[in-house]
Amino acid sequence: MSRIHLLSSRLANQIAAGEVVERPASVVKEVLENSLDAGATRVDIDVESGGGKLIRIRDNGAGMAPDDLPMALARHATSKIASLEDLERVASLGFRGEALASIGSVSRLTITSNDQDQGSEGSSAACEGRDMTVQVKPAPHPRGTTVEVRDLFFNTPARRKFMRTEKTEFNHLEEVVKRLALSCFDVAFSLRHNGRVLHNLKPGNTQAERQRRVATVCGPAFMEQALYIEADVPPLKLWGWVGLPTFSRSQADLQYFFVNGRVIRDRLIAHAVKQAYRDVLYHGRHPAFVLYLELDPAQVDVNVHPTKHEVRFRDGRAVHNFVFSSLHRALADVRPADQLPDHVVAAGDGTTIDTETGEIRTQGGLAWGVAESGDGENMGGGSLVRGAHPTSGYSGNMGDRRVRTAYQSLDQIQAYNRLHPNLPDRATDEEVPPLGYALAQLKGIYILAENTYGLVLVDMHAAHERITYERLKTAREREGIRSQPLLVPQSVAVSQREVQVAGEYGALFQRLGLAVDVAGEEVLVIRQIPVSLRDSDVEQLLRDVLADLIEFGSSERIEAHMDEILSTMACHGSVRANRRLTIAEMNALLREMEETERSGQCNHGRPTWTQLGLDELDKLFLRGR
Ligand code: ADP
Ligand code: MG
Repeated sequence: MSRIHLLSSRLANQIAAGEVVERPASVVKEVLENSLDAGATRVDIDVESGGGKLIRIRDNGAGMAPDDLPMALARHATSKIASLEDLERVASLGFRGEALASIGSVSRLTITSNDQDQGSEGSSAACEGRDMTVQVKPAPHPRGTTVEVRDLFFNTPARRKFMRTEKTEFNHLEEVVKRLALSCFDVAFSLRHNGRVLHNLKPGNTQAERQRRVATVCGPAFMEQALYIEADVPPLKLWGWVGLPTFSRSQADLQYFFVNGRVIRDRLIAHAVKQAYRDVLYHGRHPAFVLYLELDPAQVDVNVHPTKHEVRFRDGRAVHNFVFSSLHRALADVRPADQLPDHVVAAGDGTTIDTETGEIRTQGGLAWGVAESGDGENMGGGSLVRGAHPTSGYSGNMGDRRVRTAYQSLDQIQAYNRLHPNLPDRATDEEVPPLGYALAQLKGIYILAENTYGLVLVDMHAAHERITYERLKTAREREGIRSQPLLVPQSVAVSQREVQVAGEYGALFQRLGLAVDVAGEEVLVIRQIPVSLRDSDVEQLLRDVLADLIEFGSSERIEAHMDEILSTMACHGSVRANRRLTIAEMNALLREMEETERSGQCNHGRPTWTQLGLDELDKLFLRGR
């Protein structure tokens, strides 16, 4: 007998299952993806004991004919691609044709399906970790498919040992459902665990409905502090919600990135996002985002990993650049007006007037997707979600601002004027600026101001620091980076690849005030450096930059380092605590904050101001309105 023999199909499938079916959550991912590929508009997920005992997923998609069932369970059998060209432009979530075979080899699997609306009963097929001899029997089922997976890993004890507690497994499974729910807003999802309905997501594709789903999945707090962005630079399109820097997280646990509807984890994307938040996020904090990148399927290779969590971009650098610049712009553009609360309760009786249409809306009406309660999506309350309007530019919220303006120009202003007849810097018939007018200074640290919503508190040093810092950066951009030659040029031993990259990016170095020459196959020489970096470890900086360039095709390390130096200068040059400011000086600072990019955070990512709305103040005093 030959020493080498073919594996039994069961063992081959179990080996494949080792890659694809790690835990109950992976089963849910594969089966749900099949439902979505089948065009389902509703999927119901029913789970027992964290998924270990039972996972049942029912959809109303295209369904399968009786003859299809054995094929669906066979390995390397798919209806989604037929040729290499298809593989190179996959638009479906699945294409490997091995998920059901793998799952069937490590569980008791039953598929019941029907591809007809009428005239056909439906059929079912089962396999039980045995060699794949599949019996097809008639079984009633409406159009669509139900996949039932019982006793996962019943025949693979080693795998079963790796299963965690029911709760942990369920958390993973729920996370998979959330991701897929965010990937297709027009599909209804329900999730039941041990007989209890935990999620019931309604379908919808209007902006308000999408926002409601994001708020349900990611929490209403995220939605309230998220910015809607949309950037369309053919052939690339990016849209979605990014958390304001003040909504940062201690972990990278609220980050969803979809490429053509497929959720992915990607170092290139992670780097681009991190770089975009560089100047506004508190050290060690993580941004929150739900972002969708759309591009020609031929431009992404999805056949990189069995679970398809990773992709490879044909032009990674362009994608990196696009994601970075879209987010960077959007975050820089955040102004105090965007950060004001969106529930207009504080401003009066809750009526808003649209200045363009003249439409009058009352609080709790249908404007901007006010959450209706009791619809199964537990968003709670009647708060208005921010970032409501998709715009063609990079950031949304124009709609909110317009409505707010209408408000402010009415009796608020007059009431305000009656209260403060002697305030300087205040045009009587003009609207109240977002950060309002200064009232006083507290303990030499905070500025107290009044705006339409109530009280504004500003950390005066933090705010001034950001203003000075942004000014220094603007000056640097305007005047260019001053650089000086090194007295003794510094040689740096590097790899051949690094030498090559240094050559490719010569123009970048030049723009940053660095002169780097190639002095040998594995040697670079630094001849000239920016004046501001004269006390820095330029050699280390150069090495880090080269590493970035090799991996991501871009690096902001030099800018980041120069920014850090500017930031320290700004800190020293800014108003210290305990300096008395006049009301006029305070107002000037408020106006500058409104004009300054990223003014919501100081250079270290801490907030520079906060709003205490009248509603919140009323609550403190148990005062009903
Ligand atoms: P893949 O999704 O990679 O094609 P699978 O093993 O997951 O491989 O599924 C095999 C085939 O079974 C699919 O190509 C599809 O034709 C069919 N199928 C699986 N699930 C469903 C479903 N819920 N509705 C309709 N067809 C399905
Ligand atoms: Mg599949």
